[in-house]
Amino acid sequence: MWFVWLLILAASLVSLHFWWRRRFDDQRRRLAADMENFQRKQQQVTLDAKVQQQVLFNSMLEGLLLLDRHRKIHLANRAFKNLFGVKTELRGKTVVEALRIHELDDLVKRAETEQQVLDYELQLPEISGRWLQVNAAAITNSAGEREGIILVFHDLTRLKQLERTREEFVANVSHELRTPLSLIKGYVETLLDGAMHNPEVAERFLKIIDRNSHRLDLLIQDLLIISALESGRVKLDLQPVTLAAIVDKVYSDLSARAQNKNVALTASLDGFVAHADPHRVEQVVANLVDNAIKYGRTNGRVMISASQRADGRIEVRVSDDGPGIPPEALTRVFERFYRVDKARSRDQGGTGLGLAIVKHIVQAHGGEVGVKSELGRGAAFTFTLPVETEPDAPLLEAKAKSAA
Ligand code: ADP
Repeated sequence: MWFVWLLILAASLVSLHFWWRRRFDDQRRRLAADMENFQRKQQQVTLDAKVQQQVLFNSMLEGLLLLDRHRKIHLANRAFKNLFGVKTELRGKTVVEALRIHELDDLVKRAETEQQVLDYELQLPEISGRWLQVNAAAITNSAGEREGIILVFHDLTRLKQLERTREEFVANVSHELRTPLSLIKGYVETLLDGAMHNPEVAERFLKIIDRNSHRLDLLIQDLLIISALESGRVKLDLQPVTLAAIVDKVYSDLSARAQNKNVALTASLDGFVAHADPHRVEQVVANLVDNAIKYGRTNGRVMISASQRADGRIEVRVSDDGPGIPPEALTRVFERFYRVDKARSRDQGGTGLGLAIVKHIVQAHGGEVGVKSELGRGAAFTFTLPVETEPDAPLLEAKAKSAA
């Protein structure tokens, strides 16, 4: 009997062992799975942080370069690669290996030794002609040990261009103002030195002084207009503008000038009505007609016509049959102070700003300017204006109204 009990006990012990064993294995497997899960999550968190960091760096407008403690590139963001036109992998290279710019390498070495953020202006080789502002600083850990270098690159090219344009403008203005001013000063001094006692000489000198003060006045007026237009301070008083009426006024204001050169002024405007500022349109037409008379030929002809373009805008054309404009000057005549023949322009009382003013006024109306010319065959200036329409009324309706 005891033998049976012994057998039962042994069998129970064996099954208990297996039960424990299975339970232990299960636990171990679960633990291993938990560990694996935890590790995967940890990796995911690190990966997410890395991706976020990458997205953040790549969305920066400034170029960013991180160097490790051995001055090797650890990270270069997208803006950096665009600034330097780099397409290859830069990780692990030195600045000189990656870009071949020794100035930048010197900056890196300085940033390692100097305990401050360095500021440096770098001009990239001629091909891109870019100007960059570079800030460089050493990165240190909490123990004060150097971990690497960070470099941030800002693109200064546009600012530099604006600075150059401003400098050129100031130089041009000073030159333009100085010329009539020194003439006035010179003649006044000569008059005071005794020339005023000779009535004939005095009259001649006073006429020169008068002409030059008039030129100064024109120049200052044009400078004020152009500065107001360029800074967007000019508010347009938009209303229906009958082009024929504007041209009539300009022709009558300039008739004396035209008669002096025996120039015939003709127009074919066909009742066109623009949606524009009448005072500014008059300025545009007056500048173009004045130029056509000034630079056109004696006994010549100036013609104004208008047509409707495919996009619905009105295109006005002012043409003359004068000597025209050389091809290389055609793209530049709308620039401030550009003149084909400086002496001739000054002689005619030109300020060199007329066409720049025309361009700004037309652009403020959302229009475009253009010029076509062949040497010896005259010049034709065009500008576009929006057509006056009552909600979507066709141009002809506007024409009919103006004709009535
Ligand atoms: P300016 O005050 O010198 O007339 P603009 O800006 O009005 O200045 O014109 C710029 C230059 O364009 C002029 O100096 C002249 O050389 C040239 N130009 C303008 N209109 C004509 C034209 N109709 N025919 C020939 N040259 C012209």
